[in-house]
Amino acid sequence: MKKKIAILGSTGSIGKTTVNIVKKNQKKFDVILLTTNKNVKEIIKQATILKVKNILISSKKHYLLAKSKKIKNVKIHNNLDNLNKIIKKKLDYCISAITGLAGLKPTLNCIKLTKKIAIANKESIICAWNLINKELKKNNTKFIPVDSEHFSIWSLLNNSKKEKIHKIIITASGGPFLNLPKKRFKKITPKKAISHPRWSMGKKISVDSATMMNKVFEVIEAKKIFNLKFSQLCIIVHPKSYVHALILFKNGLTKILVHDTDMSIPIFNSIYGSESIYYKTNSLNINTINNLDFVKTDNKKFPALKFLKKIPDKSSLFETVLISSNDVLVDSFLNKTIKYEDINKKLKKILNISEFKRLKKVYPKSLKQIIDIDKKVRLKTQFYI
Ligand code: NAD
Ligand code: MG
Repeated sequence: MKKKIAILGSTGSIGKTTVNIVKKNQKKFDVILLTTNKNVKEIIKQATILKVKNILISSKKHYLLAKSKKIKNVKIHNNLDNLNKIIKKKLDYCISAITGLAGLKPTLNCIKLTKKIAIANKESIICAWNLINKELKKNNTKFIPVDSEHFSIWSLLNNSKKEKIHKIIITASGGPFLNLPKKRFKKITPKKAISHPRWSMGKKISVDSATMMNKVFEVIEAKKIFNLKFSQLCIIVHPKSYVHALILFKNGLTKILVHDTDMSIPIFNSIYGSESIYYKTNSLNINTINNLDFVKTDNKKFPALKFLKKIPDKSSLFETVLISSNDVLVDSFLNKTIKYEDINKKLKKILNISEFKRLKKVYPKSLKQIIDIDKKVRLKTQFYI
């Protein structure tokens, strides 16, 4: 039987990587749905190659454009809220790879419609893990994190009890500015910020990696997924990025997992699980792991790291303030409206607004609450730009 799958955000970096994995073994898969925001050309190409009958284009303008092309055997949809009308039989696998909070509602909806969900969309995990987890349990849906650090932790833990964990160290490549003197940060352009030395990713996450905000997000993400305390998590710089996380157990053992800086590895494993299928010949080069260097993080050079201290231990709506404001600021930087160093400066101001600080004590109870805060924070952030 073919595996029924859906790829949310199929035209992005994670989405395209997933499509390439599926493409190599097409007889195993029946791709039920692909989605994009605006990339009509790419999604049509993907639908043709993978013989997909349903595609979804969120942007109304681009949806109408695609409709006018009258593509044979492909139904084009527009509304991410109506996934249950497209996915009629339970999927075997779905990957949530839309970027930002736009991915939250479709992720929550898809949990009901699939046996297994791989979530790359870290913003949704950070803002709404309690809602996601509730849906996972209610629907008995298997969850796999595909952020590389979290995939490593998840694989290494292999269902062992969280009581056995002493500490988890998440590695950071350090991004493109690890060795750039701080005084030259004034001149950082979007082009330089998205040129990551180790990973090829979408623009937004590439900027987050450059500021190291991505690591702040990943610590919060790990705290939520693995139900830990902040005091059990820390970050270390590991420029080669072969090790993604280290788990220190109370019994004296430390576990690490090594793999290339290639997102297709966690994605491939999230699709195939324990099936005996070759990814590609795994020829580990001993030279690559001979000199695994780890160095301390530098909070002065990367002040985003200090934001971690502002996040409360209990899940709250304040995480949405961090995510949404950062999203607007990164976008403004990419559009050259603000400078690189303004991302953190302005974010600090937003996080200090008392109306938002109060949200540290508010537990996220519904999707609507998160969406409302997201809108409010976006507006306020625009005002500060
Ligand atoms: P990307 O920008 O390359 O792609 C994003 C995808 O989401 C595209 O298909 C786009 O069409 C779709 N999209 C964007 N805005 C949308 C909207 N408003 N409505 C509907 N669809 C929309 O992003 P990416 O780098 O592939 O990252 C996707 C997610 O995975 C992010 O949450 C990111 O943090 C996470 N992630 C990415 C990587 C990586 O290596 N790229 C690694 C770990 C985690
Ligand atoms: Mg990561």
